[in-house]
Parts: sequence; structure tokens; C-alpha cells
Amino acid sequence: MEKIGTSVPVSGRRCKVVCIKKNTADSVEILLKDESGEPFVFKPGQFFMVNVEIDGQMVRRTYSATNAPGEFDGALRLGVKRRPGGLVSGYMNDRLKVGDEVVVKGPGGKLVPTEGRGPRHLVLIAGGSGVTPMISMARTLLASEPDTSISLIYCNRCLDDVMFLQELNELVDSNHDRFRVFHVLKENAEGWSACAGRLNVDILRDILNGLPAVDEYLVCGTPEMMTGVCGYLAELGVPASVIRTETFNVPEDI
Ligand SMILES: Cc1cc2nc3c(=O)[nH]c(=O)nc-3n(C[C@H](O)[C@H](O)[C@H](O)COP(=O)(O)OP(=O)(O)OC[C@H]3O[C@@H](n4cnc5c(N)ncnc54)[C@H](O)[C@@H]3O)c2cc1C
Repeated sequence: MEKIGTSVPVSGRRCKVVCIKKNTADSVEILLKDESGEPFVFKPGQFFMVNVEIDGQMVRRTYSATNAPGEFDGALRLGVKRRPGGLVSGYMNDRLKVGDEVVVKGPGGKLVPTEGRGPRHLVLIAGGSGVTPMISMARTLLASEPDTSISLIYCNRCLDDVMFLQELNELVDSNHDRFRVFHVLKENAEGWSACAGRLNVDILRDILNGLPAVDEYLVCGTPEMMTGVCGYLAELGVPASVIRTETFNVPEDI
């Protein structure tokens, strides 16, 4: 078991890795429990700052909760996708193990659905690991707001890159007309129910035309994807006041 050195002055909640499993070839799901037994309190869509000790150096990165608050007995579930050459995402995918200790600060972030009780329809648009806060929102709102429906537009390179695929399918199956997922795949979309190509204004318009009126859009992904999607939404006449965004770029302090 790796324990964080006591000499390292890092503030936050000391947590144990209680479960870690492959999600895709390039990502892992990590379940963290506070050593004090205190549950994690957060809003769906928020993120935490995670400090890990790698070869004697304390490093920190930001990761979003993927569970609904209170699920998994108050634990925090993360989904970490390997970034090529990435220090922390590589460590978490290759070396982190059950029993290891990490220090967690947070929550933070404003990519949170507006407080409200349905009926309402939210459209979530995510690219790659940007799906993590969306999973938390879907799990939370489908369980707590029986009149709310959610449509997720999820962009990836190919099917093998789709994080939480099985979980998304299960959520669709158990929430029939309240949860829809539209996969947009750049490669190898043939024979599979997905839109082929990179998300563009035409694909987005086609998807949105088939949906009920939208109350709010929540968008998360790389800076490049965010610029694209926000531009397409503006082109489609969606007012900025109903769009909430979060960019997965450089780590920020909480
Ligand atoms: C609010 C927020 C929430 C996040 N939530 C998640 C999450 O739930 N799951 C997840 O997998 N990741 C998430 N991230 C990204 C995460 O914080 C790290 O940036 C990512 O894991 C890469 O860290 P690393 O140490 O592996 O890469 P580093 O060693 O820091 O960087 C490796 C290389 O990748 C580049 N790079 C690093 N991060 C990015 C980036 N985001 N975009 C473009 N280039 C980059 C660096 O410039 C460098 O060239 C989130 C980021 C933010 C800001």
C-alpha cells in the first residue's frame, strides 16, 4: 500500500482508493472513500482537486465526480482518461491501486444544472472524458426528478473510446423516454447507431430537430471542442443564457 508521505504539506481530505477498474482501454474508474468516513457532498457536475504522490513528488489535477451525491455509500467516483504523455492520468491508469492514499479538495465548479424540479429537458454535449460530469448529472436527475428528460450528445474518435458505454446503455434502458444518447464518432461508425464524423452544425441541427424543446444546454470537453460547440449553438440561435460550459484544460485551484 502506498501512503502519502507525512512530510508533504498538503491540505484536504485523506482518502483511500477502494476500487479501481478499467473503463475503456485508455481510462479507469476510481472509487475514493474519505478515511474519516465522511461522505462527499457535491452538486452533480462539480469537480475535485486530487493530489497524488508520484515518485516522491506531490502533484494535483482536477477530476469530476461521475456518481450522484450519496451513491456508493458516500464515496467519490472518478473517471480518468489517459492523456498521451500525461503524468497523472498515466499514473492513475497504470500504477494507482486499491489501498493507495490520495488527498482530495473540493468540490468546485459551476457546470451544474440550474436548480429546479421538472418537467424540463436538458441537453448535455460532451467530448471524450468531458462525459464525466454528465454521468453524474444523468444519474442524479433521472433518480430525483421524475419529470425531467435528458439528451446526451457524446463525441468520440471511435466506439472503443466511449467511456461508461455500458452504464449509459443501462441508463437508457431503465429510463426509456427520459434519457437518450446520441453518439457522434469520427471513425468506424458504420453498422452502429451513431452519427459519423466530427460534430458540426449540421449534425447538431439534425439531432436537436428531433428533440423536445430544450430548457438548458450543458457542454464539456476540450478547448477546441468547446469553441466549436458554442459557435454551432450560437449559429442555431440558442441564447447564451441557457448554455453552461466547462473546459477540461489546465488544472485550476479550488
Ligand atoms: C474542471 C476540470 C475537470 C476535469 N475532469 C476530468 C475528468 O473527469 N476526467 C479526466 O480524465 N480528465 C479531467 N480533467 C483533465 C485533468 O485535470 C488533467 O488535465 C488530465 O488528466 C491530464 O493530466 P496529466 O497529468 O495526465 O497530463 P500532464 O502531464 O499535465 O500533461 C501532458 C500533456 O498534455 C497536455 N494537456 C494536459 N491536460 C490537457 C487538457 N485538458 N487539454 C489539452 N492538453 C492537455 C499538457 O500540456 C502536456 O502536453 C479535468 C480538467 C478540468 C480543468
